[in-house]
Amino acid sequence: MQYVTLNNGLTMPQLGFGVWQVPDDQARSAVEIAIEVGYRSIDTARIYANEKGTGQALAASGLPREELFVTTKLWNDDQGTDKALKAFDASLDRLGLDYVDLYLIHWPVPAQDAYVDTWKVLERIAAEGRAKAIGVSNFTEKTLGRLLAETDLVPAINQIELHPYLSQESMRGLNASHGILTEAWSPLGQGKGLLDDPVLVEIGEAHGKSAAQVVLRWHLQLGNVVIPKSVTPSRIAENFDVFDFALSDDDLNRIGSLDRDGRIGSDPDGFN
Ligand code: NAD
Repeated sequence: MQYVTLNNGLTMPQLGFGVWQVPDDQARSAVEIAIEVGYRSIDTARIYANEKGTGQALAASGLPREELFVTTKLWNDDQGTDKALKAFDASLDRLGLDYVDLYLIHWPVPAQDAYVDTWKVLERIAAEGRAKAIGVSNFTEKTLGRLLAETDLVPAINQIELHPYLSQESMRGLNASHGILTEAWSPLGQGKGLLDDPVLVEIGEAHGKSAAQVVLRWHLQLGNVVIPKSVTPSRIAENFDVFDFALSDDDLNRIGSLDRDGRIGSDPDGFN
C-alpha cells in the first residue's frame, strides 16, 4: 500500500474502497472482503445509506481503529450550522465510531448558499478531534475560491469526478496549488465504456494487467487518492493488485490523450 500525507500531517492510504450504490445489507460483506484483501480506507456517505453495514464490517474486522481510515460525507440537506452538527453525530452513531478520519461536504450546492457556514461547523468538529481531517467534494474554482477566502482551515481533500475521460487537469492543479489533495470519484468511469477503450486494453495487455488496473495505476502515478467500487470479490481483489507494475511516460501520455468532456455525474456548480 502507498500512503499520501494530508496538509495537516495525517497519512491516508492512496487506494481505498468506495461503497456508493451498495445496499446497507450488502455493505458489510463487501467491506469485509475489501479489508480481507488489504484495503484499509473506506469511503461512504450519509446519502449512500450504508454507514451501518460499513461500520459493522469495520467492527467485525477486529483491526485496531488506527489501522483504518474512514471517510463519510455530509449530505446537501444537512448543510447549515445546526443541521450539520446533528448530521455528523448521526453518521458517527451509524458507523459505531467515536471519530472519522475524514469528513467531507458532499456537494457545495451554491444555490443554497450554506457551504461556508457548514465548513465552519466542520472546522469545529476537526478542532474537537472528532474528524482527524476535513475536506470537500465537488468543489470547483468558484466554490473552492470562496471557501478559501472566507474560512480559516484549508480543506485536506477535494474529492471530484476524475477518470481518463475527464482528467481534470486544471482542478488538480488548483487543488495542488493550495496543498489540497485530489481524490478521484468514479475513478473507473463507473466501468461503462471506459474500460473497453482500446488504448487502455492495449496498455493492459503489454503489462499483463486489465484496463481497470491500468486506470487505477494512472491515478496513483498522477498522485490522486482513488476509491474504486465493486461488490464482486474478484474485482475487489483485482483493483487492489496495482502495486507491482508501473506505467511508462509513453503509457501516461497515451492515457492523458483520452481526455474529453466525459463527465458522467452532475455539474457541481449547478447541482442542488
Ligand atoms: P467506479 O468508477 O469505481 O466504478 C465502479 C463500477 O465499475 C462497478 O460498479 C463495476 O460495474 C465496474 N468495475 C469495478 N471494478 C471493475 C473491474 N476490475 N473490472 C471491470 N469493471 C469494474 O464508480 P463509482 O462507484 O461511481 O465511484 C467510486 C466511489 O467514489 C463510490 O463508491 C463512492 O465512494 C465515490 N463517489 C463519490 C461521489 C461524490 O459525489 N463525492 C460520487 C460518486 C462516487
